[in-house]
Amino acid sequence: MNILIKNITALLPDGEGIKAKICDICISGDRIVSVDSAPENFIAQKVINGSGKMAIPGLINCHTHAYMTVFRNVADDLSFQDWLMGNIMPLEDQLTSEDGYWGAMLGCLEMIKTGTTCFTDMHMFEGQSVRAAYESGMRAVISRGLSGGESDKAGAKRRIDEALREMDAAKSLDDNGRISFLLGPHAIYTCDNGYLSEIVALAKEKKLGLNVHLSESRFEVGSCMEQHGCSPVELLDKLGLFELPTLAAHCVHLSDDDISLLAKRGVSVATNPISNMKLGNGFAPIPKLQKAGVNICLGTDGAASNNALNMFREMGILSLIHKGALEEAQAVSAVDVLNFATVNGAKALGLETGVISPGKKADIAILDLDVPQFRPLNNPVSALCYSANGSEVETVIIDGNIVMENRRMATLDEQRIFFEVERIRNKFGK
Ligand SMILES: [Zn+2]
Repeated sequence: MNILIKNITALLPDGEGIKAKICDICISGDRIVSVDSAPENFIAQKVINGSGKMAIPGLINCHTHAYMTVFRNVADDLSFQDWLMGNIMPLEDQLTSEDGYWGAMLGCLEMIKTGTTCFTDMHMFEGQSVRAAYESGMRAVISRGLSGGESDKAGAKRRIDEALREMDAAKSLDDNGRISFLLGPHAIYTCDNGYLSEIVALAKEKKLGLNVHLSESRFEVGSCMEQHGCSPVELLDKLGLFELPTLAAHCVHLSDDDISLLAKRGVSVATNPISNMKLGNGFAPIPKLQKAGVNICLGTDGAASNNALNMFREMGILSLIHKGALEEAQAVSAVDVLNFATVNGAKALGLETGVISPGKKADIAILDLDVPQFRPLNNPVSALCYSANGSEVETVIIDGNIVMENRRMATLDEQRIFFEVERIRNKFGK
């Protein structure tokens, strides 16, 4: 389908920066074909009146567990260890595959409604994330969480088999390449070294990148030092993970040597500031990582530790915490966070998205400018970072398909999703 978005204020790439320009955006099939005045010979089957609206690149949530929406507000105000080992993992043991599907559907619904067009997911029921991404129309990079080793050889093998099976099954989907995969070794404290090495060998064989949790808590770093005599970053480097394209979530507790190593190996860091702070873990040293040249992207983590999948909230807070903690107003700018949430995410995942530019995939969120928090619109990028709350998102296009128009979902049945998650809630809610 050809879509013409007329007279819209669009955020376009401008060298390292971003500029706002009123233009027409033409979309043909899954691609943006022009961002100027519409060519005379462009025949649109669908015209969207963009006046009073702003088009931004669809946001890329580089780290989440979409199914965890079913655990929203279930285990709050707990330490990381107590939250994960004492609460979330036992709850996950009770979760059925179908529960995992409805949780992922709710996650997709929440993300689309707040302008996210692509997410990186790690799920115990990988096929249910695939199903939710496929049905919702979202772009997704999915991994089966892999854990185990000598102490759980059968489980470790079963998880790898499941990952391979789901990747194979997804080949038959008519998704125009929207759904892709990474291998997902969960973390150094849930996988032993032998298992991590096995995953590296498999990733090399299958030509897949990796999605891993890294240096999230002081406890993880301290235990690693005790057991292996090096930091988690150094351990993963020794095991060869960084020879593959790696997306490392969190990276909160890093030494200067760790930061240099991540930069040298081209590891992308997905920072999740709200989850990290909520679990009392701190937050990643973003200005230092930026200075070292690390590709930084942004994620929400799961709703059990955030407790929302709203990238606007994440962008504002990311910028503010560094300004506040460093007493430096220029520490992380609005342009920086918007880049983390768009182009840098696309770079980390190897996707042709993240900017509104001819030739790129048509992943666009359209926001209503007719709201008090956007008036007057002195600086659109600042407005997105410091004033927006996500409720301004009105229409969302992913891969050239309109998945939400004027806040009405085209792909998902909201009420059905709410019904199903309320049913599941009775199992987990307090
Ligand atoms: Zn995570």
